Amino acid sequence: MSKMFYDADADLSVLSGKTVSIVGYGSQGHAHAMNLRDSGVNVIVAELKDPNNKNYVAATEAGFEVVDAAEAAKRGDIIVILVPDTVQKPIYEKFIQPNLKPGSALMFAHGFNIHFKCIQPDAKTDVFMIAPKGPGHLVRDEYARGGGVPCLVAIHQDATGNAMQIALAYGKALGGGRAGILETTFKEETETDLFGEQTVLCGGSAALIKAGFEVLIEAGYQPEIAYFEIMHELKLIVDLYYRGGLAFMNYSVSDTAEYGGLTVGPKIVTEETKNAMRAALQRIQSGEFAKEWLAEYAAGGENFKKLRAADAAHPIEEVGARLRKMMPWIK
Ligand code: NAD
Ligand code: MG
Repeated sequence: MSKMFYDADADLSVLSGKTVSIVGYGSQGHAHAMNLRDSGVNVIVAELKDPNNKNYVAATEAGFEVVDAAEAAKRGDIIVILVPDTVQKPIYEKFIQPNLKPGSALMFAHGFNIHFKCIQPDAKTDVFMIAPKGPGHLVRDEYARGGGVPCLVAIHQDATGNAMQIALAYGKALGGGRAGILETTFKEETETDLFGEQTVLCGGSAALIKAGFEVLIEAGYQPEIAYFEIMHELKLIVDLYYRGGLAFMNYSVSDTAEYGGLTVGPKIVTEETKNAMRAALQRIQSGEFAKEWLAEYAAGGENFKKLRAADAAHPIEEVGARLRKMMPWIK
């Protein structure tokens, strides 16, 4: 059984007198900054100072002291890296590493840069992760309601001997201790996160949707009908999984849908699909995917932009945009 921590296992006083520097006030950053402040923690924020940067403006309007990343590193006892994964390495090397106080800690919300050794902190720095299992707005909203989003905790480097205590106090201040904080490693979090998004959540589901839509269109059905049956209704099904798992989905749909799903589903996602998943996992584990993605990003992302444009030009997008206008409640 894996290890789970709750509020009672964490001591907020570990953070008293300390400054937490939130670097990047985006999806995660705004939620971390606000929840920690409401938990009584001393927070400063680093953002790109530009009046056209809406996150800079938002942090200022929320009443935070907003500085640059170098200043955040100089003043923080805990430096929380919440800039996009693709730019963490240069920001760390240029602004953070040269300004770190001895004995300070580095925190991440995803293990990518540490696990793939893009960032290699010196041995005197505590390095840990608190990764909420939800987007930033949910992390903020649940906290404000008195709840919390479950988090993962992992320790990469325990230089002070206090890394776990600091990490758990941070997770408690973020609201994660109200729901549960599950122990993992940087390796496990990074590899499973990439695998999930590639094979099921983003890549797999999008490929399944496109394939289903294309088969109906080539058989002569109306695109509007295909959109509703293939993409729109997927949300209703996912909500059932989210609430009560496979059994609740099977219970809620008609017997016809349940029987058809149980008998045909395994013919669609086959051993061949699983083998492709295994291959994807291997490329993640070997670091091949990370290398490919960082090289693509560094080269300007031409292929990435092409792939994104191809998805945007898929026929399901045109019909979907029209039909969603009929359903203003969606927004
Ligand atoms: P984001 O893109 O929403 O926000 C990043 C912010 O960093 C932006 O506001 C940007 O202006 C700012 N920034 C860029 N360069 C900067 C610099 N030099 N100095 C200061 N600020 C700078 O990012 P995000 O989606 O919140 O992701 C942050 C981290 O959280 C990533 O490691 C990601 O993997 C992880 N994470 C994200 C989610 C999510 O729901 N988005 C969930 C779990 C973990
Ligand atoms: Mg994830």
